[in-house]
Amino acid sequence: MPPFPRIRVVGAGTMGRGITQLAAGAGCSVELTDVSATAVDDGAAFVSRMLHRAAAKGLTTAAEAEAAIGRIRTGTDPTAPSDDIDLVVEAVVERLDVKQRLFATLSGALPRAVLASNTSSLSITAIASVVADPSRVIGLHFFNPVPLMKIVEVVPGTRTSPDVLAAARAFVEHTGHTPVQAKDSPGFLVNLLGRGLPTEALAVLDEDVADAADIDRIVRDMLYLKMGPFELMDLSGLDVSHPVLESIWKGFYGDERLRPAGSTQVRVSAGLLGRKSGEGFYRYADGVPQVPAEHAAAPDPTAVPLHIVGGGPLADLLRARGVTVSDGPSDSAVSVVQPLGRPAYLAAIEHGLDPRRTIGVDPLGVPLLTAGYRVDGGEGEGHRARLAVIAPFTVDRDAGRRAVRALASLGCAITVTADGPAPVAQRIAASMVNVASMAAEKGLANPDDIDRGARLGLGYPLGPLAMGDSIGPQRILAILDGLLDYTGDPRYRASGWLRARADLRLSLLDPAARPHDLLG
Ligand code: NAD
Repeated sequence: MPPFPRIRVVGAGTMGRGITQLAAGAGCSVELTDVSATAVDDGAAFVSRMLHRAAAKGLTTAAEAEAAIGRIRTGTDPTAPSDDIDLVVEAVVERLDVKQRLFATLSGALPRAVLASNTSSLSITAIASVVADPSRVIGLHFFNPVPLMKIVEVVPGTRTSPDVLAAARAFVEHTGHTPVQAKDSPGFLVNLLGRGLPTEALAVLDEDVADAADIDRIVRDMLYLKMGPFELMDLSGLDVSHPVLESIWKGFYGDERLRPAGSTQVRVSAGLLGRKSGEGFYRYADGVPQVPAEHAAAPDPTAVPLHIVGGGPLADLLRARGVTVSDGPSDSAVSVVQPLGRPAYLAAIEHGLDPRRTIGVDPLGVPLLTAGYRVDGGEGEGHRARLAVIAPFTVDRDAGRRAVRALASLGCAITVTADGPAPVAQRIAASMVNVASMAAEKGLANPDDIDRGARLGLGYPLGPLAMGDSIGPQRILAILDGLLDYTGDPRYRASGWLRARADLRLSLLDPAARPHDLLG
């Protein structure tokens, strides 16, 4: 017996249809309702087609699909009184006034039902505030497309009862999806975690350190993400992403770590929305992004001797490729610094090197060169080993060009960026890890759910806390402290969760002991 055998879905749009398909497929009786009769008819027909398609693909049997379709009824009075409904899931337009009116009426019409909202950005507590008994109200935030996105954020409001929370979690598990419990705070969990990547990528773009295509390549190949931030924003549409960036930042009373870039509002005004408008960060021809070709450096191990500051695996790899590598600076060699949380030119000064004959390499990418990553191939499938080279503005052009050709003899892809306050991959990784650590510090979710939410909701191969562990909490902290020191921008303030675990050499997934753990 499902935890909620009889369900009413209110709103037969994109989400209401998906929720109906999932719940009916899991054995619940579902009443799909909407104020629009057309929406109800189209919605029911759509769900029926989807269930038949699932059977045709072998994801379910024809008999199970027919049984699920048989469990679906339709209605055009979403607030019709009933004693039979156990759970109502609201998926109507994203407006607080509309949802509050609906919940006030539903709470009287369905006296036994748990009242759930699928809102993605409104406060559950605010929706519940109009209901006589707010302990019955909870957030069930499904993701689009519902049957494929196997995660549901379960969001108790301030007054939601523990029984309602437990039943809602059990319901999600019964459908085969994974519940991730999040506090009722701006963006809940997954949308908050999704801020770390685009905000820092946009800052890098606005500072003219690298272009969108190069930032996307760095993020895919050095941080293992399937899509770069600009591809992703073009896919969602900047008219959707920009308001989310703004509302979450404002929701946290302007926390600088979530501060959006200045350029997105301008791009929205210009109609550069992405795929849907034919141009965003990329231009589209018949829906296909026109990605500018990568500049390839001609590999030449004899182009110039390299002085690899600090030696390490980069020096060994270059020697193996026939590059002359020295341990100290010389008149003939170009020095290569590997800066962590600082500009390459500053690392050159710190090492007493001539800034005209010094370039940088992001050390974050170096382990990939030794980890069996493919070093050939083009854009698209899989991750290429990629070296991010940093060109300080002081570097002599001829010396810099020769150094890049010598580095290209490694056979990996090479991106050359300008010298920002820290290498690009470091900035973006640190931002992703810091936002997740901030969520853990505020107790918005437990550390396992934070990583689970990012994997299932954002498609990250590793959760951001596990990513921080793999790079090293101390290195992430060093990047943030370096950025804060150099820029003076509180955007780079490390969360206490990260700082304490780096200091104690603990995993970022290590849960905190709570005061009540010491009692009883
Ligand atoms: P939609 O526009 O596709 O569908 C909304 C439906 O609600 C329409 O059919 C409309 O007729 C109906 N409706 C409007 N007011 C109503 C009322 N008072 N009573 C009954 N029906 C009413 O919208 P959607 O994309 O399905 O989004 C619905 C909700 O889910 C929103 O709160 C949204 O923020 C949230 N959400 C959307 C997504 C997404 O990717 N689309 C993802 C997660 C959450």
